Amino acid sequence: MAKSQNRNEPIFRVAIALPVYRLFDYLAPEHVELIKVKPGIRLEVPFGKAKKIAFLVECVQHSDIDIGKLKRVERILDEKPLLSAKDLTLLHWAGRYYHHPLGEVFSAAFPVALRQGKPSVIQAEKRYALTELGKATDSGQLKRSPKQKSVLEKFQAHQNSLSEAELSAWNENWRSSVKLLIDRQLLQLSVSESGTHTAEPVVRNDALHCNPQQQAAIDTVCEGLGQFGVFLLEGVTGSGKTEVYMQIIRTVLERGQQVLVLLPEITLTPQLEDRFRQRFTVSMAISHSKLTDRQRASAWLTMQRGECSILLGTRSALFTPLKNPGLIILDEEHDASFKQQEGFRFSARDVAVVRGKLLNIPVLLGSATPALESLHNVDNKRYRLLHLPERAGIATAPVLQLLDIRNKRMQEGLSEALVAQMRLTLAKNEQVLLFLNRRGFAPTLICHGCGWVARCRRCDANLVIHYDEGILRCHHCGQEQRLIRQCPACKTGELTPLGLGTERVEKVLAELFPDKSIVRLDRDSTQRKGSLENYLQQINRGEVDIILGTQMLAKGHHFPNVTLVAILDVDSGLFSIDFHAPEKLAQMIVQVSGRAGRAEKPGRVIMQTRQPEHPLLTTLIHQGYNSFARTALAERKEASLPPFSYQALLRVQAQDAEMPKLFLQAVVELAQEYSKGRTQILGPVAAPMARRAGLYRYQLLFQSGRRPELHALLDVLMPKIEKLKQAKKVRWSLDVDPVDLY
Ligand code: ADP
Ligand code: ZN
Ligand code: ZN
Repeated sequence: MAKSQNRNEPIFRVAIALPVYRLFDYLAPEHVELIKVKPGIRLEVPFGKAKKIAFLVECVQHSDIDIGKLKRVERILDEKPLLSAKDLTLLHWAGRYYHHPLGEVFSAAFPVALRQGKPSVIQAEKRYALTELGKATDSGQLKRSPKQKSVLEKFQAHQNSLSEAELSAWNENWRSSVKLLIDRQLLQLSVSESGTHTAEPVVRNDALHCNPQQQAAIDTVCEGLGQFGVFLLEGVTGSGKTEVYMQIIRTVLERGQQVLVLLPEITLTPQLEDRFRQRFTVSMAISHSKLTDRQRASAWLTMQRGECSILLGTRSALFTPLKNPGLIILDEEHDASFKQQEGFRFSARDVAVVRGKLLNIPVLLGSATPALESLHNVDNKRYRLLHLPERAGIATAPVLQLLDIRNKRMQEGLSEALVAQMRLTLAKNEQVLLFLNRRGFAPTLICHGCGWVARCRRCDANLVIHYDEGILRCHHCGQEQRLIRQCPACKTGELTPLGLGTERVEKVLAELFPDKSIVRLDRDSTQRKGSLENYLQQINRGEVDIILGTQMLAKGHHFPNVTLVAILDVDSGLFSIDFHAPEKLAQMIVQVSGRAGRAEKPGRVIMQTRQPEHPLLTTLIHQGYNSFARTALAERKEASLPPFSYQALLRVQAQDAEMPKLFLQAVVELAQEYSKGRTQILGPVAAPMARRAGLYRYQLLFQSGRRPELHALLDVLMPKIEKLKQAKKVRWSLDVDPVDLY
């Protein structure tokens, strides 16, 4: 028999990472000193037959559940909460705003190791540094051992010690080379750096002399330190935004505060990391998905304890606790990867702004192509605009031009005119960059005899041809099959690749330019850790003539010797049904163009199109991104689309073809009962890709001109949706402020 419970026993109300909206009640552990127990601590609790990690939300005196049925908390994992009271407030806000279960929101704020209940100790990592001999040695002497040479160069570029984590992020095969370099007395184990403040200056003395616009931006943000404010740094590509960040960061560091810098992609962290390490003497933490759980937990904890001053990370680093918060920077704020697209679908930009407000610190958003929402927030005075209209130093803006390819002879996507321009550029020993946002050889395999098309069995999608690997692969569910030679339908027709992918262009480039070196950068070619960085180094050393790649190229990279950029197929972006598509296309064009002529030599951008009079293209070319954005905002206003209205998308999928629709019909009935007609309920409709990975998909869109009304409806609706009888038979998720209607 269970031992009798004291009716007045304190109860812990906890959040557990489960896809349900409710919290769970447990009896407090025996002999616990309640005044010492604070919300936010991690607990271990019995759950069903297993144990789970839970987060304490509050201590209460009364439970709706019979106290005799409550289980007891098994273990308290943290003496003190690892998150501050303000950050806990942020998580509660995020749970409410995104209508997402609180346990999953809490869980997202912690690195995996801590989520799993590991103790909050920082595992000491070894660090390595150059010896005096290593500093003085010319890496050319190691040309017989290219691996050691590249490690030595890495250290020489950093001028600072490097940790195991940093080396692993760079190249996983560093260990043997480091050992050999230690044997040669070029490297040594270094004493661990302390990030706490010393009398030492925080920067090395190599700041650039800023132009007046840069200086004005720096001064404005620095005057705003110590209080909340959002700044939108709109600077054309190459305008020196990074320099502005670094000079502001310097001031923050000198105030003894920490800086959180968020980047869209891990591919950009090494570049920025190098620049930061060359500038700053303080210790820096890095956090992104390619690091181990242990490394990410260390980065999180060193920031939490104030042992580190700068954190460079991707979206998930947003919630990292800061002992002395000073500034949050989001670089490339328009980038779609700041929006989490599964589970807890938060926008790192929007949550960063709320976090800045709670912590009372400024938030600096930077982009050459600000999101329409952000420009709208400037218009209504929520953000303050800082403008860098020109390229920094002596670099000039690239010239954009449309190349009409209607009725022109094309060779695998390359027009003769473009090839001629490429030859001229290459003859001057300058680099060419070609952009095509489709990897693989071709997006479709079709039978020339009967029209059969290779389709994915589990998705409404064609299989993509990957000749190099000899397979057909679905880019939506990942399913693969061997590349077939014979049409399975008519058995006689010839199978032909239809359309263009990077692999196919690479082949024709090799034929057209046999004596040039070509590098392809896409998700397939950069699978291996460190391979992207190796390619980038080759490019920057001038060992590459032609760079071909997908959107991976568009972001932030600095290729000083690229003077010609060509966008091979700009038209494919012009006809999407998603209202976000023109904005994304314009941003992509400007970002890719920004890779041209970033140093002394002027750059040119050629866009091949069959739509040379398309208003999006002509506005962009003749008037620039800002004019495009103004036009696009006016159109959104006209159509009452975001940011002039507010949306939430309810997505549903199931194995059964009918169930998603039935579920959403039940939701519509509920919603109509509560919405009082002020929030539009659009649907249910089949998702644009009606079947994916074997599941049937439907969606329902909520839209309202007033945000509070939309949220009030969702507040009452979500708990009721969870209890619908069809809810058990489908998988559903809510996306607040969706950026992708697919
Ligand atoms: P963005 O981040 O805006 O694309 P970067 O900060 O990468 O631009 O700057 C582009 C290039 O211009 C870099 O090589 C940088 O060193 C240089 N640069 C930045 N500011 C100045 C300046 N004030 N004077 C000279 N060169 C500068
Ligand atoms: Zn056939
Ligand atoms: Zn598929």
